[in-house]
Amino acid sequence: MLPLEEALQRILAATPEPAAERVPLEQACGRYLLEDARVCVDLPPFDNSSMDGYAVRAADISGATKDRPVPLRVIGRVAAGQAFEGEVQAGTAVRLFTGSALPRGADAVVMQEDTKLDDARPGEVLVLEPVRPWENVRFRGEDIKAGACAVRSGERLTPARIGLLSASGVEAVRAGRRPVVALIATGSELREPGALLGPGCIYESNRAALAPLARAAGADVRIYPVVEDTLEATCDTFATAFQECDAAVTCGGVSVGEMDFVKAAFEQIGGSLDFWKVAIKPGRPFVFGKRGAQVLFGLPGNPVSAWVTFLLLVRPALLRWQGAREVEMPRHAGVLAEPLENRGNRRHFMRVSVNGSGEVRSAGTQASHILSATAAANGLVDVPPETLLAAGTTVPVLRWDLV
Ligand code: AMP
Ligand code: MG
Repeated sequence: MLPLEEALQRILAATPEPAAERVPLEQACGRYLLEDARVCVDLPPFDNSSMDGYAVRAADISGATKDRPVPLRVIGRVAAGQAFEGEVQAGTAVRLFTGSALPRGADAVVMQEDTKLDDARPGEVLVLEPVRPWENVRFRGEDIKAGACAVRSGERLTPARIGLLSASGVEAVRAGRRPVVALIATGSELREPGALLGPGCIYESNRAALAPLARAAGADVRIYPVVEDTLEATCDTFATAFQECDAAVTCGGVSVGEMDFVKAAFEQIGGSLDFWKVAIKPGRPFVFGKRGAQVLFGLPGNPVSAWVTFLLLVRPALLRWQGAREVEMPRHAGVLAEPLENRGNRRHFMRVSVNGSGEVRSAGTQASHILSATAAANGLVDVPPETLLAAGTTVPVLRWDLV
């Protein structure tokens, strides 16, 4: 049996190098950068006001109080998008709004609430409070400077990073191409949800569950009709899928039964195979195949096995394909609120639910056909073979709800 880490290493080594494409920023959320994204302008691009108020020289109003307001002559007004040509000199002020460029000569902004206007003194503002030098001023480049790296190569573009790039004038990025991934379920017992359930049949569920996981990992997912357990049907679907896609994720049909055709069909369309018993539970049988630059991930059919092997072995490859540097599951420490026991001789990735306080509980029966425990869970805890982890133990929790 192959250790999980070795299986993953082999998969990542066989994953194609990312191909770059230029992606407009508004379509780039979730994409991975293939080069550092650098800022085009200083941010903010100019010194500006953080308040509605008046640009002043702080020294002019150091003695201002409500009882003895300091009058300043208002020599201009800077609306959004404008710049003031003149200069603030002793005894003068310029009307500003939040984001207005700070005029030359001014060294602070007094906020509107600390001023008043007097009809008897047109053209003047009365300042009721002093300000410290540079109070209410936002400085050019204090956020990030032109030329600095805002998002590194290999990092994911999040909404906030897109906001930063957009603010700094970037309109497009070089990101890794998203792999087109076929999702294929094999099994003559499988019926589409909504269809009549005959004797011995079950509803197909893996494609529905894995499609959003694959999309969250950046894949462009194509879902194929259920494939019955014959070599011919499996070959037909593979022929189409490998014409249309970069990779296929299949579930079912990879055991050693005489009804398991995934391996034979992949070889028949010219693929070469590795068949591994990965030393984890759930999800021991796993097929990995190559056909030129194309890849086959043959997952076991049991819904929990398919789910866990997808997260541990397929997701990292889909991410690396796009140039992601970090391909491991998001993880954080949690504390067991109850014991977790693995009596078997393989690492058991147990489904758990972890709450906001970091308390970790088993999500229910751990058998690999129990979907309700997966639905109740939000993560996995890797329990070593023949191990009892006592309540109170601190463990890493792999969080699939954060992917
Ligand atoms: P297999 O890996 O094909 O031997 O399937 C193992 C178990 O998982 C069997 O009980 C199958 O009926 C079930 N199974 C396989 N594929 C799916 C699927 N796509 N959706 C739900 N159950 C499945
Ligand atoms: Mg089957």
